[in-house]
Amino acid sequence: MINNYAPDLKSAVQGISWPAIPGPEAASSAAVLYQLQQSQWWSPEEILAIQLKQLESLVSHAIRTIPYFSQTYFDQANIKPGIAITLDQWQALPLLERIHIQSSGSALTSKHPPQYHGALSKIHTSGSTGTAISIDITGINRFLWHIFSLRDHYWFQRELGGKLAAIRAEFTTEPGIASTSTSWGPATGHLFNTGPCVMMHAKTAIDKQAAWLVQENPDYLLSLPGNLAALARWFRDQNLKLPKLREVRSYGETVTEDLHAFCHSVWGVGLTDIYSAQEVGYIALQCPETGQYHIQSENVLVEILDDDGRTCTENEVGRVVITTLQNYAMPLFRYVIGDYAQAGGLCSCGRGLPVIRKILGRRRNMITLPDGSRHWPSFPADDWADIAPIKQIQLIQKSHELIEAKLVTESTLTEEQKRRLYQYLQTRLGHTFHINFSFQENTIRSISGKFEDFISEL
Ligand SMILES: [Zn+2]
Repeated sequence: MINNYAPDLKSAVQGISWPAIPGPEAASSAAVLYQLQQSQWWSPEEILAIQLKQLESLVSHAIRTIPYFSQTYFDQANIKPGIAITLDQWQALPLLERIHIQSSGSALTSKHPPQYHGALSKIHTSGSTGTAISIDITGINRFLWHIFSLRDHYWFQRELGGKLAAIRAEFTTEPGIASTSTSWGPATGHLFNTGPCVMMHAKTAIDKQAAWLVQENPDYLLSLPGNLAALARWFRDQNLKLPKLREVRSYGETVTEDLHAFCHSVWGVGLTDIYSAQEVGYIALQCPETGQYHIQSENVLVEILDDDGRTCTENEVGRVVITTLQNYAMPLFRYVIGDYAQAGGLCSCGRGLPVIRKILGRRRNMITLPDGSRHWPSFPADDWADIAPIKQIQLIQKSHELIEAKLVTESTLTEEQKRRLYQYLQTRLGHTFHINFSFQENTIRSISGKFEDFISEL
């Protein structure tokens, strides 16, 4: 499969473009990627067995150097250094919540992270619940982050010579200022001759982002789902086009079914999502054949657990719990990342990497009905845009009966528009809630630059 990119491979030796002779870092990337091309086809049992083997090494290191993960901690599951670990034993360990990470201070970090794992860096995440945590990662973790982004390109056979437009809320300049890089970034740029990457901050006003995109005319567009939804609305309303666009890519927030369809109707291309988190790296990538999410098992062990802590069977919905496999500075064992997902079965593509059917979002984005039942409501932009000149909606559940609806509109709504919107929202929410409207001047965003269209304060 690596052959598909042969013409784009970067040679470190002047005068020799074929066969390309990669530099040391690129050679390491290619060698690890080669292994991932094999392991993706292993059976789920083979994959689990090698994950547990990798954990064995990490656990021995943790017992020796991480106060929180002492032998006493592992005694709860009868896990001993140097002895093979079973999944049942692993699942007997307690769950690690963000609050535990926040309150444990340095007890979770290794006193002796291996020097040959590279320099340490800190990842700070505020999380949607506002529980800020910081995680130490090593050079190996940063290196692996790059490898999985390469796998993503392989799976989707991207034209690496094309132009990538990235509108992110991090790793970028201040809002409103565009910047350009000659490559798609370190992950891809070491190994391949790529096209340029043009960048803009996700907090830039949508009309400015759109005008800039039209001018840049990219082959690929990468951004946060909420930002993509706002852009797609703007492109549709202003009848703007991106004639060269091949694919839209998203990361960082939950993608709804509606957004896939909306991107397709506006730009005529598919949307591919990445499920990752800064503190753990890549969690899952969409299958290039079926669109389901394949867990990146070479990086993380993922469990989906019901409210009683049991493993969900196919189609059941539960909490996503993650164990990192290579972080020797600050491993996370059975970390509750805060997302809910629907467990999948085998994928028809033949890959043995376990499947997440759907990522449903966070608990705080679930609505609770007066009868106690919960679901993740969605509000397709197509629907409400037909009702009134609305640019954005954010709903906040205040109680079992009360919803506050924040609206950004182009003009003042008529009573008739308000009445229709009220009816529409009640239908989508699944209950005749009392809804208080309030009108905002500017786009509603969280501190991190993300959009959330529903937040529960219950
Ligand atoms: Zn698949």
